[in-house]
Amino acid sequence: MKRLAVYCGSATPHDPRFIDVARTVGRALASRGIGVVYGGGKLGLMGALAGAALEAGGEVIGVIPDQLVSDEVANENCTRLHIVRSMHERKAMFTQLSCGFLTLPGGVGTMDELWEAVSWAQLGYHEKPVGLLNALGYFDHLLAFNKAMADAGFVRPAHQNLIIAEAQLDPLLERLAAHQPATPIFQMKAGDL
Ligand code: AMP
Repeated sequence: MKRLAVYCGSATPHDPRFIDVARTVGRALASRGIGVVYGGGKLGLMGALAGAALEAGGEVIGVIPDQLVSDEVANENCTRLHIVRSMHERKAMFTQLSCGFLTLPGGVGTMDELWEAVSWAQLGYHEKPVGLLNALGYFDHLLAFNKAMADAGFVRPAHQNLIIAEAQLDPLLERLAAHQPATPIFQMKAGDL
């Protein structure tokens, strides 16, 4: 995998171990030669991830809407920083530039990005793996809810395992690299967005 779109919180969480997780992931991706595509900010886990990857010599591509440039403190140290016009353009670019998705702990924006990657895989917009690092058990409830949706019949059997979740990064990256795309509901193309 050449590049992963990494989604994570822009806030500084109460538990500093989440910041350590982001830094560890940034360093680990750089050391494996996997580039990071992310939201282009300097705050919270996003900033920690990007800073650690850059310090370790990795490629970091930021994509940030112009209206968020000051609020999220755009990271001018990125290898490349794309300033785009809208959230939609930002998310389309995350998908275009990456070979897969990796979600770390975060808040509502991170959830929006994760579920969009899952939903777009169902619809056939992309065939990329969608990874979730369940660090410190943060996503236990989300994974239980994901199973509840499937058990209730809201998710087709072919799509019940679209989220690839592991508590540790190494096995997660192995599973992302070995990913076989599911059969989508439709065959929509990225240009249809
Ligand atoms: P958060 O997890 O809420 O800290 O947000 C992480 C990233 O998602 C940040 O780059 C935010 O700009 C972005 N974001 C926040 N809210 C939304 C939203 N409603 N839709 C899409 N992205 C968002």
